[in-house]
Amino acid sequence: MLGPIVTATDAGEGLALASGAPFGQMTPMDRFSFTLHGTDGSARTGLISTPNGEVRTPAFMPVGTAGTVKAMLPENVRETGADIVLGNTYHLMLRPGAERIARLGGLHRFMNWNRPILTDSGGFQVMSLADLRKLTEEGVTFRSHIDGSRHHLTPERSMEIQRLLGADIVMAFDECPALPADEARVAQSMRLSMRWAERSRAAFGDRPGHALFGIQQGGVTRELREESAAALTRIGFDGYAVGGLAVGEGQEAMFGVLDHACDMLPVDRPRYLMGVGKPDDIVGAVKRGIDMMDCVLPSRSGRTGQAWTRAGQVNLKNARHADDPRPLDETCTCPACRSYSRAYLHHVFRAGEMISGMLLTWHNLHYFQELMQGMRAAIAEGRFADWERGFHARRTEGDIPPL
Ligand SMILES: [Zn+2]
Repeated sequence: MLGPIVTATDAGEGLALASGAPFGQMTPMDRFSFTLHGTDGSARTGLISTPNGEVRTPAFMPVGTAGTVKAMLPENVRETGADIVLGNTYHLMLRPGAERIARLGGLHRFMNWNRPILTDSGGFQVMSLADLRKLTEEGVTFRSHIDGSRHHLTPERSMEIQRLLGADIVMAFDECPALPADEARVAQSMRLSMRWAERSRAAFGDRPGHALFGIQQGGVTRELREESAAALTRIGFDGYAVGGLAVGEGQEAMFGVLDHACDMLPVDRPRYLMGVGKPDDIVGAVKRGIDMMDCVLPSRSGRTGQAWTRAGQVNLKNARHADDPRPLDETCTCPACRSYSRAYLHHVFRAGEMISGMLLTWHNLHYFQELMQGMRAAIAEGRFADWERGFHARRTEGDIPPL
């Protein structure tokens, strides 16, 4: 069943039910807005508008860690169907530096991607990558993993860096404890993140056309997730992320959180699940009401000889492909499947040729975007449950048998 059309803009007009008025009047081009076009169960499809372009949801965001989606030209990333990419504050602040990128015209121009960009806050990567970090109420002090230089990251500095980069969607600065962690530690961390969310909101200020997302924390404890959602909603954000998942808790625990976490967040704002995931994680998250996701998986797998297809994961390192003249997936329209055999993809991986990472990254990104497109259409037409059955059935069949 299709739900009502709901629109929210960064001007704070809140909920506007469609009344036959042209969309242009409700979502001017210089504004950030989210329009929900339809729902099917808890799954949703809609459109995020930014001055740099539109993002169809549910959306998968390829990760451009250091100002590039590895092995891909930006125009090729776009050809796979991506509307938005993610940039990493932590990596870009260390190299080449946010001030330098700002002097060179901002991240869009610097990396030649003229569509929406979301940047993370740096918090998660500082916690997981940096050495010698020291966490206080004020923020985090750490040493760069590149050259050991000393840096300080606070909610205010994170907002400044993301403004210098020119991100369309900015993430609040938060702390994410590694799981498993005891509940007292998770609660303490979540409450610190909520104080940082308030400081992020104040430091972000009023920037029409740019959005600030808050990040819900609270581990796998429902009461803590409730407390976090209430704190964020009170502060007020343009979108809400479900944070602190995909950190080793397992799919069942993640879905368990999503079963109730989405309902705690405002219906008229986009919901973003950070760092997810594998295709079946993505499908399960969309089913539970998530609108946006990001993951390094398609590009990272592409560099290690792993392909993601309708049939699941295919390992092109495997000797079974050495004499196989068939395409990786005969129904796929990406360049790797259209013009090359499994035998060739196997050979260039074995030979360590750069084209291996290029072709498999392209294929993987293409597959992930096709997956999102399939879900968007199924939700809009009210047949998500059927679509999901087909998705799982095809994976259960597995890859085509060897010749
Ligand atoms: Zn392909």
